[in-house]
Amino acid sequence: AKNVYKFGNGQAEGRADMRNLLGGKGANLAEMNLIGVPVPPGFTITTDVCTVYTKEGRDAALKLISDEVKDAVAHIEELTGTKFGDKNNPCLVSVRSGARASMPGMMDTILNLGLNDMAVEGMSKKTGNNRFGWDSYRRFIQMYGDVVMDLKPKNKEDIDPFEEIIEAMKEEKGIEQDTEFTIDDLKVLVLRFKEAIKKETGKEFPTDPWEQLWGAITAVFDSWMNDRAILYRRLNNIPEEWGTAVNVQAMVFGNMGDNSATGVAFTRDAATGENLFNGEYLINAQGEDVVAGTRTPQQITKEGSLRWAKLQGISEEERASKYPSLEESMPAAYKELDETQHKLEQHYHDMQDLEFTIQEGKLWLLQTRNGKRTGAAMVTIAMDMLKAGEIDEETAILRLEPNKLDELLHPIFDTKALEQATVIAKGLPASPGAATGQVVFFADEAEKFENSVLVRIETSPEDLEGMNVARGILTARGGMTSHAAVVARGMGKCCVSGTGGIKIDYKTRSFVANGKVYKEGDWISLNGTTGEVYDGKVVTKTPDLSGDFGYIMELSDKYTRMHVRTNADTPKDAQVARNFGAQGIGLCRTEHMFFEGERIKAMREMILASDVEGRKKGLDKLLPYQREDFEGIFEAMAGYGVTVRLLDPPLHEFVPHQQATQKELAKEMGVDIDVIRSKVAELEEFNPMLGHRGCRLGNTYPEITEMQARAIIEAAMNLKAKGIDARPEIMVPLVGTLKELKLQADLINETAEKVFQEKGDRIDYKVGTMIEVPRAALTAAEIAEVAEFFSFGTNDLTQMTFGYSRDDAGKFLPIYIKKGILKHDPFQVLDQEGVGQLVDMATKRGRGTNPKLKVGICGEHGGEPSSVEFCNSVGLDYVSCSPYRVPIARLAAAQANL
Ligand code: ADP
Ligand code: MG
Ligand code: MG
Repeated sequence: AKNVYKFGNGQAEGRADMRNLLGGKGANLAEMNLIGVPVPPGFTITTDVCTVYTKEGRDAALKLISDEVKDAVAHIEELTGTKFGDKNNPCLVSVRSGARASMPGMMDTILNLGLNDMAVEGMSKKTGNNRFGWDSYRRFIQMYGDVVMDLKPKNKEDIDPFEEIIEAMKEEKGIEQDTEFTIDDLKVLVLRFKEAIKKETGKEFPTDPWEQLWGAITAVFDSWMNDRAILYRRLNNIPEEWGTAVNVQAMVFGNMGDNSATGVAFTRDAATGENLFNGEYLINAQGEDVVAGTRTPQQITKEGSLRWAKLQGISEEERASKYPSLEESMPAAYKELDETQHKLEQHYHDMQDLEFTIQEGKLWLLQTRNGKRTGAAMVTIAMDMLKAGEIDEETAILRLEPNKLDELLHPIFDTKALEQATVIAKGLPASPGAATGQVVFFADEAEKFENSVLVRIETSPEDLEGMNVARGILTARGGMTSHAAVVARGMGKCCVSGTGGIKIDYKTRSFVANGKVYKEGDWISLNGTTGEVYDGKVVTKTPDLSGDFGYIMELSDKYTRMHVRTNADTPKDAQVARNFGAQGIGLCRTEHMFFEGERIKAMREMILASDVEGRKKGLDKLLPYQREDFEGIFEAMAGYGVTVRLLDPPLHEFVPHQQATQKELAKEMGVDIDVIRSKVAELEEFNPMLGHRGCRLGNTYPEITEMQARAIIEAAMNLKAKGIDARPEIMVPLVGTLKELKLQADLINETAEKVFQEKGDRIDYKVGTMIEVPRAALTAAEIAEVAEFFSFGTNDLTQMTFGYSRDDAGKFLPIYIKKGILKHDPFQVLDQEGVGQLVDMATKRGRGTNPKLKVGICGEHGGEPSSVEFCNSVGLDYVSCSPYRVPIARLAAAQANL
């Protein structure tokens, strides 16, 4: 098989649609060549080789590719007219990782590979630019020393060992920017770097370019298994088997002087979605300089530059002289870049994230990919492209990531509260949203507080987990394309970057802003939409959901087959879900209703009574409460079905366990406290979740079912009298045998008849069951003789199919997932292979007996996109999920049907 794919000079062996084999970066480097975008020549080692490397080791992998790599290096030499390892005209390359899914900043890139003490002289002679040669060399040693030879900071408070040497050197020389180093300074840096490597790792820096190359290639493969890559994969559901490709590419130089530059750009605004070309660049710089945030990057377009200066409070004179846009400083290269960005977006039909370098005025593209964006930008871009006819409706729907809609549903700052808040600093609006939390300075401490804001000079890929935990991220350095900004937008997390006005001191764990010291634990608030940072907590409110969001929901409904219901126990939740477009309630739990105020007393009276009469007395008190609750819920869902589940949890959950409460209750019931105590003890169970609960309660205490059925029917009839269309569906929980359901259904029907007689009127209602005991799924054909509907309670069904206690699984599931025993937490992502089989089978068997059987799902899985897709594939009629997940489920249901 072919393991290495070459590209260069308008030709390529790969293509965009080969991303599985070549990784995203490699596939797009090939494609850009094919559509006439200038890209330095190079080659891609396939992801299959990474798999061989991981499974069989270094020797096996290198043996596999060594001839092909040599041939491919010769190809670069030919196209660039250079020679690998040559002392007069050396060929320098970059070695870059690139997985199937983009993992920005996850793995390390090595630039300027091929340099050594001789080649650096050759470079200098050839270019007539000594400084540039030595600057490239010191960068190479720095990157190679870090990535391949593993010379990294020892403690989190330490700065990078190479940066430390650079800082010391700046101090010695009394300079501030690394562009001020003289050639001799750079030579000293190279020496000191090499010494540090020798001292700390015990190894010499390799001088042979081939040794350098093999070391770099294997380091990329190794990086696939490093902690931050593993974490990123876990957060983004990327399988380990995919592996990464390796791209080796001829260097182009953005650090050759003032007519050279490097930068990053987006074809549209990744934060808001606005159709505005934007990005950042640095003159006389290389590679990661822009994203690393060590120098203040400049804006690409003049318009962007003007906006930026305004945000930063920089005057027009200062902007124009110190921070001109690329459009102003290199108009010709800018024009070509602008044409290229249009070309790329039109080719890929999606917003692109570009990396480019300008070498002595000549533009080179180094990467393009579909840009990461916030939920808001995702929606705006897809809808704008749809309206412009660039994509069709189906594509627009499929392009949206359902889970990202979540970001749009979350609170924003209340404008009134904002007016009163004190602004303590202003940075760049890197990722929109509102965040309020307590300050932490280290990513691994983000969990210290329930709501934390991570405050860093700048972030790095190691901080990923903490960034994920924090409510928001504030950085002192770095622009709109800094690591913090890009990652935060990907996570949909509020971020303010480049906040020059704050001075952070990691050692004392504090920062100063607006003349005030903020210590760890102090509250601050961030507005990621404006870049403002506020003192203390600022109140938030719910956002407005019309416009594009409404349009997406409309489109989703057009293409969906299933409908979406909600799980709601209160009129308020029902209303929220209605506003999000829920068509009915798939699960209304009644037990929550028993905990409020006076109700719990009546409930306890009922439970602790010693006979039927005593229980009925308690139930009579509960009836009006229940009826009132149901009226509220049915009204909020008028015209749509509301599935009410009869009492489900073990009674023990309701009784008082504290002496004082027991005493009070005894007094109220007029019995001795010992009667209460012994009754509480009697109700205790070894396995409550497998104990006296669900329809086992209704079958042992039929009067409970009777009361609930009456409350439901009476509520619906009261509404009917007011002209409101209530549609109750009564659901019997935890059924395992036909007879269990039959007895409950008979009782419900008898009760309904009684109410109809009393009121002299009738209504429509349904009786059905939850399928959550495996035996019910197996005997679904019989159960459907009685049930008018099935609702898969996949929480319990998962618990009982795996035999995992839901309440104890937290102890072992994380380890199971880490070890790969399970791919996902089955309580979050439906186990299609096992539990899904039961769902599929029970649906078919149930419909075999009762073709009109309505089938849905009401577990947590009903709002999880991959589970929704599965539900669609086995023909369910609806999914039901919590109110805030309704829009996500609606979109996922439409996608499932396309
Ligand atoms: P990442 O996946 O982290 O973005 P890349 O492989 O894209 O890493 O490399 C990071 C940066 O290094 C690029 O954006 C580019 O600026 C620079 N770079 C990579 N290869 C080259 C090259 N052949 N010539 C010049 N710069 C390069
Ligand atoms: Mg890149
Ligand atoms: Mg259940």
